[in-house]
Amino acid sequence: MTTTEPLLQVRNLKKYYPIRKGVIARTVGQVRAVDDVSFDVHPGETLGIVGESGCGKSTTGRAILRLETPTAGSVIFEGTDIATLSAGTMRRRRTDLQMVFQDPYSSLNPQIRIGDLLAEPLIAHHRLKRAAAQARAAEIIQVVGLPRLYLNRYPHELSGGQRQRVGIARALMLEPKLIVCDEPVSALDVSIQAQVLNLLKDLQGEFGLTYVFISHGLGAIKYISDRIVVMYLGKVMEVATTQEIFTAPRHPYTEILLDAYPEANPHLRDRPRIIVEGDVPSPAKPPAGCVFHTRCPSAQAICTTEIPRLSTDAHPVACHFPLLASKNGKVES
Ligand code: SF4
Repeated sequence: MTTTEPLLQVRNLKKYYPIRKGVIARTVGQVRAVDDVSFDVHPGETLGIVGESGCGKSTTGRAILRLETPTAGSVIFEGTDIATLSAGTMRRRRTDLQMVFQDPYSSLNPQIRIGDLLAEPLIAHHRLKRAAAQARAAEIIQVVGLPRLYLNRYPHELSGGQRQRVGIARALMLEPKLIVCDEPVSALDVSIQAQVLNLLKDLQGEFGLTYVFISHGLGAIKYISDRIVVMYLGKVMEVATTQEIFTAPRHPYTEILLDAYPEANPHLRDRPRIIVEGDVPSPAKPPAGCVFHTRCPSAQAICTTEIPRLSTDAHPVACHFPLLASKNGKVES
């Protein structure tokens, strides 16, 4: 593999959940949590996925790791479509793909000491002897900035930030190539968030990791991401470098997201605020045409009937009337 080839290619990924009703639980509809999502992740980069709650970003992350079985589409990791692997083959492949969860407390068994929690993946996947796995745990816990004596503690004896460091250490134990971080700092105090983000950056440099970083927080996304995927109602709205997203967004939804985060861009801060009508529609009943047309200030007749496809240029956008960026970075329509 050359360094320019993607490590991960997500193609037309769909995850629908049936809506059942009645005594025989007849399927009466579907929740389109992820609906035709495609993007690439390159080796060594951090790809941020951002959007409001319910946009499908976490389901996308879980589907990449096969924690959710995709309804359709491909998840090609190092040339193999892992969406179609058998459970046994996927289990062996899982050592390359790990996850850091939002709430480390619920992902760590409260009755098991940290040392055993860290050693367990090595014993289960690599059949390492307990002593060897514990020795590796002692190395890794220091890599994430915790003293060795914490190996004897239980999760409830640690602070939220320390527990998230343990969650990161557990993900590192199997020496993965790709880590999906699902809102890893959202539950932490702001002062601790920066420490955990810096740790993730340091580990990326040290171990050559690739991240998919999922967050609704634009600050964290901007700080850690090389490129960003913007999602709305199960679909990709825009994909671009972090610089492009924050200085010259092309999708009206991205502009509205940034409008709610004025410190992101001085040009946008000087503009009048954008008034957004209505709530996010239900993914069980997404609008026809462009899913954003019910709230989009730029919507026109075609937007209500024709789904805008993600463009195939260097700054992909799914919009019939994308915003134009002038040379000074100010956004025009
Ligand atoms: Fe707005 Fe139309 Fe673009 Fe959708 S396709 S974002 S409704 S302008």
